[in-house]
Amino acid sequence: MQAKQHSLGTKKITLHITLPLLPGSLSTARSTCGKPHCACKANPPKLHGPYYRWTGFLEGKRTTKTLTPEQARECRQRIARHRALEKQIRQLVCQALRQVPWT
Ligand SMILES: [Zn+2]
Repeated sequence: MQAKQHSLGTKKITLHITLPLLPGSLSTARSTCGKPHCACKANPPKLHGPYYRWTGFLEGKRTTKTLTPEQARECRQRIARHRALEKQIRQLVCQALRQVPWT
């Protein structure tokens, strides 16, 4: 039995991807509140937070979600996996541009 031939000059590769992954970015913020004598107004101020936010695109719309610290930890890992995937794709694209069939 003969192995199926790929068309001349092509090859298949495997990307190693860890799931789940998530596009977007994570940000943290500390803030003051509306209460007049709160510790967040003290000198030095003791700000509220940190608050964690995921920002990304859902169905083409820029979306922000507030996360708990646990969700933020998971989110950070998923984003790192997505970035690793993007990096692999960028490297493939760079390689492709170096191997164009013209000079
Ligand atoms: Zn406050």
